[in-house]
Amino acid sequence: MSGTASKIAVLPGDGIGVEVIAEGVRILRRVEEIFGHRFDIQDGLVGWAAIDATGTALPEATVNLCRDSDAIFFGAVGDPARDSSLPPRERPEPVALLGLRKGLYANLRPAVLSPHLASACPLRPEIVAGGIDILIIRELTGGLYYGLPKGRTPCEGGERAVDTMTYSTPEIERIARVAFDSARLRRNRVCSVDKANILACSQLWREVVIRIGKDEYPDVALSHMYVDNAAMQMIRNSGEFDVILTENTFGDILSDEASMLAGSMGMLPSACLGDGSATPFFEPIHGSAPDITGKQIANPIASILTAAMMLRYAFGFNDAAAAIERAVDETLAAGYRTSDLARAGGTQVGTSEMGRQIESRVRRDETP
Ligand code: NAD
Repeated sequence: MSGTASKIAVLPGDGIGVEVIAEGVRILRRVEEIFGHRFDIQDGLVGWAAIDATGTALPEATVNLCRDSDAIFFGAVGDPARDSSLPPRERPEPVALLGLRKGLYANLRPAVLSPHLASACPLRPEIVAGGIDILIIRELTGGLYYGLPKGRTPCEGGERAVDTMTYSTPEIERIARVAFDSARLRRNRVCSVDKANILACSQLWREVVIRIGKDEYPDVALSHMYVDNAAMQMIRNSGEFDVILTENTFGDILSDEASMLAGSMGMLPSACLGDGSATPFFEPIHGSAPDITGKQIANPIASILTAAMMLRYAFGFNDAAAAIERAVDETLAAGYRTSDLARAGGTQVGTSEMGRQIESRVRRDETP
């Protein structure tokens, strides 16, 4: 063991969040053994679990724990069966998620289809035979969702509604740097997606991205694509993409499109990063899945890959992150599948067994 411990706030939350985060933590313990890193892991309450214990979905103790930690490892919150007992704004999803993601402007969502799962993907096997490995970087705190003016006013004949898309140079610069830095950890290519043929925001976006690329990341290949074409190419030519950089609304839509490519909700991790003043936040993209809670059939791979993202982006432990990703791929290659991946054939296992299979394959890369 070496160095100071990295402090991780673990918030399993509700439903399958508890089951899949346990497997993520199992893998973190394995990484400690193999790589000598030390993790100070502290559990916090969030979601309905927190409401039951403290009366609120995001208790102050959890906020303090997260503020004092180097990273947040989050499961899922929500229980539709209990929603009617609280007004919408007091439910766990807005309270906990918006509370914990505040100030985090970069949403990273990888969509990876292992070649071993080609038959679980809705695209034809020959289109995805080479696998898919896209990282979508979505700007998360600007653009159409937050711009002012916003709202509805009466007008002749009814009402007028307005939303404002707005971006400033610094907002674009910082998200562009996240994309270029991420590309350097991957295949060194960024495709910036915009609508620069129509939107002023996109014209500024493109100019700034080009300047940052030229001045600071000349080694990274930069291309540009209009969002309508990008939506099409992600289906037609998904294997061609490395990092996709885009603004808030386009990223919302394209990242959901990309999530379909990976074969199951249970495969997709995500990260929300900021400028260091807010604790980075890592979560599988799926929810609490009440339909399968407690059955030990949830796929823990999204959670395990989320742990890998945390190691890479919060701590810079790139070797350990790659070792986890490799272990997931080898486990899939060996034919192990949770029930959501049954279409891809193989040996069906439960949540913990999938975690154990992956754990047993995490090792240092011995290639010279
Ligand atoms: P969901 O992601 O929980 O489930 C959608 C479908 O995918 C379900 O059939 C579920 O069984 C399946 N699924 C999800 N994760 C899986 C996994 N790891 N392995 C196997 N199958 C998996 O979405 P939902 O049903 O729309 O929402 C359920 C609850 O979760 C709601 O209360 C919702 O608000 C909440 N939610 C929370 C988050 C979050 O905490 N970030 C995100 C989405 C939804």
